[in-house]
Amino acid sequence: MSNEHTKKTHTLNTGDKIPAIGLGTWQSKPNEVREAVKNALLKGYRHIDTALAYGNEAEVGAGIRDSGVPREQIWLTTKLDNTWHHQVEKGIESSLKDLGVEYVDLYLMHWPSSTDPEDKSKHLPDWNFIKTWQELQKLPATGKVRNIGVSNFGIKNLEILLNDPSTHIIPAVNQIELHPNNPSPKLVAYNTSKGIHSTGYSCLGSTNSPLYKDETLLSLAEKKGKTPQQVLLVWGIQKGWSVIPKSVSKARIDGNYEIDGWELSKEEVGLLDGLKDRFKVCGDAWLPVKVFFGDDE
Ligand code: NDP
Repeated sequence: MSNEHTKKTHTLNTGDKIPAIGLGTWQSKPNEVREAVKNALLKGYRHIDTALAYGNEAEVGAGIRDSGVPREQIWLTTKLDNTWHHQVEKGIESSLKDLGVEYVDLYLMHWPSSTDPEDKSKHLPDWNFIKTWQELQKLPATGKVRNIGVSNFGIKNLEILLNDPSTHIIPAVNQIELHPNNPSPKLVAYNTSKGIHSTGYSCLGSTNSPLYKDETLLSLAEKKGKTPQQVLLVWGIQKGWSVIPKSVSKARIDGNYEIDGWELSKEEVGLLDGLKDRFKVCGDAWLPVKVFFGDDE
């Protein structure tokens, strides 16, 4: 396996190639994310992950332009918000306008929840994620979206989606929470078996990550002479998914990208696979419908 992790890409079921590492932008505060995106692109990152729900698409777009890196060299992912499921065309138009781009490389259904925009505690009575996917499937032909995918789909909802007769495009990506305390091996294997690439979010364990207190991780990082974050990112990349660490600090953006030239041995990967603690950053209690049904489901 090549240890040039930052050069690695994954070929999706459409033939397009998604870089194995990108910059996350959730919870990046206003006036921070523009600089973060610019710094990441200048460092070498070629994959940026945002979402309408993060409220920062305009700044992300500005950061891309500030960097001077040509648009076509960048993999740009954004996501359809839950309250926009019945207005997919308007949702993508809003994102393209705010980002200031003509297309995105990947457009994800952020959650399998068609939330009522008038009352977010309710699910739209006449809509569901199958209908949303029917609308999303129209987008690649418009040129506004190169690939479509999903996020926060467990096996149960993926089966419903894939078995529906109206589904003629298999999601290119399922973006899910993946770190050693939420490794979801069955879901990752399911994605792979259906030709769906997995992207791991909260790959460092997110804000105030409990992983940074994990003795196994800390001693492995010390032994390798790397930061715990670098070890977590290389673990994810070696496991076969793409990782999208978020940072707004230039030093951390740089450090998270300085991961080439070494790798974890099979035993070292196994050590992190074997962590027993479990925690999940993103649950479904805030949604009007349940979307997680136990481990990997
Ligand atoms: P991450 O696992 O990327 O962790 C981000 C946190 O780690 C921030 O607090 C950041 O702080 C800190 N951090 C980053 N690098 C370092 C470092 N080297 N040393 C110490 N601390 C560090 O969390 P996220 O939850 O943000 O997930 C990553 C991305 O995934 C999101 O930004 C978003 O793009 C996507 N995502 C998608 C979801 C979905 O539903 N599809 C849900 C959640 C996330 P600081 O900025 O100060 O450096």
